[in-house]
This record gives sequence, structure tokens and C-alpha cells, in this order.
Amino acid sequence: MQLIDGKKISLQLQETIAKEVEQMVASGAKKPHLAAILVGNDGGSETYVASKIKACERVGFNSTLIRLPDNVTEENLLKAVHDLNNNHDVDGFIVQLPLPRHINEHNIIEAVKPSKDVDGFHPINVGRMVLNLPCYVSATPYGIVHLLSAYKIETSGKHCVVIGRSHIVGSPMSILLAKNTALGNCTVTLCHSKTKDLSSHTLKADIIICALGIPEFLKADMVKEGAVVIDVGTTRVVSAESKTGFKLKGDVKFDVVAPKCSYITPVPGGVGPMTIASLIQNTLLAAKKEIYK
Ligand code: NAP
Repeated sequence: MQLIDGKKISLQLQETIAKEVEQMVASGAKKPHLAAILVGNDGGSETYVASKIKACERVGFNSTLIRLPDNVTEENLLKAVHDLNNNHDVDGFIVQLPLPRHINEHNIIEAVKPSKDVDGFHPINVGRMVLNLPCYVSATPYGIVHLLSAYKIETSGKHCVVIGRSHIVGSPMSILLAKNTALGNCTVTLCHSKTKDLSSHTLKADIIICALGIPEFLKADMVKEGAVVIDVGTTRVVSAESKTGFKLKGDVKFDVVAPKCSYITPVPGGVGPMTIASLIQNTLLAAKKEIYK
């Protein structure tokens, strides 16, 4: 079994980006600039946004954090989005999800200018991704494809089972892996909460992507010998052992599944760092105006 070290691959990617930024700045270009809107003070969202800002510092980007209170109106949040759309110094921005229940997430996502939508959530970017047109690919699936490629894991002709069909992870993941591209060509089965006899699918899978958000859901008797297992899940659970009072749990029961795998990602240190690297990569593309001229 080989552990897929997402932290290492993410830092390598960020190092390459940092060198490119250095050259851009030396040749007179401005530093790429990523902004984030954070609504409320959810602990998980605070941590994710802090990691994204830290990554900006590492690669030499400018970053801006806009904090809005939990009770912000949809109208005021939309105003903050429009301000960033019109701010010529900001190349790309994200609105950290989830949002409070009184705000319609779709209205916010659709308000982000597609050329600044470095999370790749806007319907235009999703549609372009499906049609193989230049776009920002949603950061988590993009990071997973990059990880498979970094470890030279063959996807062509393989049977991949994706568990979870969310718009930000499972669905785009299934589309990317099924594409007729070098990092695709899988035969994909997309499973969800209504799937019957899930194990009958996972037991046939060469690659399993687990993205449902139920800690330790995937057990050893659901995985065939030699499978590649990618664990996207990050659920914060209370833990007396940790200084912060919680720890992150993946969707895979790692200790019993890992011995059966050819490759597996840990949580933390697997997919999470790659999501950040992909966001940084998308922001660099935005700064270079490579997707939307
Ligand atoms: P989500 O929007 O809650 O979607 C969960 C999906 O899992 C849904 O499609 C749901 O099916 C399916 N599901 C739920 N219970 C199931 C079951 N018993 N069997 C099969 N499928 C089941 O979640 P998400 O946003 O995709 O996130 C999933 C996990 O990934 C979470 O832990 C999240 O924190 C994590 N995540 C991590 C990163 C990272 O960078 N590491 C990034 C994004 C998300 P239905 O559609 O039928 O309801």
C-alpha cells in the first residue's frame, strides 16, 4: 500500500507557482490577487479560509479577506460580490461555503463573474467543463485528478465509483474521470443516498472516490484488493486528544481499508491540501487571463 501524500504534492505545485509569480513580478506584472468572502464565524470555514490565505502568502499572491456577519442580508452579500466583480485589482475570488440558511447559495454563485470564479462553481464554468472548453475546474475534483496524475495512477479503462453527487465534488469528479482525456477515460458509476446495494458497486471498483461526509463510512468489506481509495470527507468531530478540541475524520475507515489498497489518501493531508493548490492554480490562470481573455 502506498500513501498518497497530498500535502507534499500540494507544496510542490505551490513552489512551481511561486517561481512563476516571481518571474511575472520581475517582468513588471502585478501580483495575482485572490479575495475571499467569509460569512459568519463557523470554525471549519475559518480554518479553510485561513489555509487559503496562508497559501497566497506562500506563493507571493496578494489576498483580501472580507468578513460579513452571520445575519448579513442576501442583498448586502450580493453587493460585496458585485464590488469584487468590479474591482480591477482582484483577479479571482471565492465565497466560502456553506452560507447561512437564509441566503440562497445559487443566487450568490451565479452573481460571481465567471472570469473571477476561481472556485469553478458558476454554471458557465461547470458547463464549459462538461463541454471540454477552457474553464476553471472546481478545485477539489481538479486537485484529485492532479493527485492521480502525480502518482501515475492509470485511469484509462478503469472502473471508478464516486460516492456522493454534490455539485462541488461528486458530480464534477464523475464527469472529469469519464472524459475522453489523458486523465479520464474511466468507466464511472456515480452513487448517492438512493443507491441500492452500494457494496456491489464498490467491490467492483478499481478507484473509489468517497465524498459523502459520513465519517468512516467505507469499510474493508466494501473494497476489493488493490483498489485506489481517495477520501474527500472532512468531518470535524470532537476530540479530547487534540489541542483545538476537534479532529478531522475522513469518509474511509482508514486502518482497515488501507491494508487492502494499492494507494490511499489520508485525512488530513490528502485531498484537502490539493483543493487549496488548485484554487491557487485557478487564480494564477485568472491573473494571466488564460481562460477568459
Ligand atoms: P454534500 O453536498 O453533503 O453531498 C453528500 C453526497 O453524499 C450526496 O450526494 C448524498 O446523496 C451522498 N450520500 C449521503 N449519504 C449517503 C449514503 N449513505 N450512501 C451513499 N451516498 C450518500 O457533501 P459535499 O459538499 O460533496 O462534501 C462531502 C464531504 O467532502 C464532506 O465531508 C465535506 O466536508 C468534504 N469536502 C472536502 C473537501 C476537501 O477539500 N477535502 C472539499 C469539499 C468537500 P444525495 O445526493 O442522494 O443526498
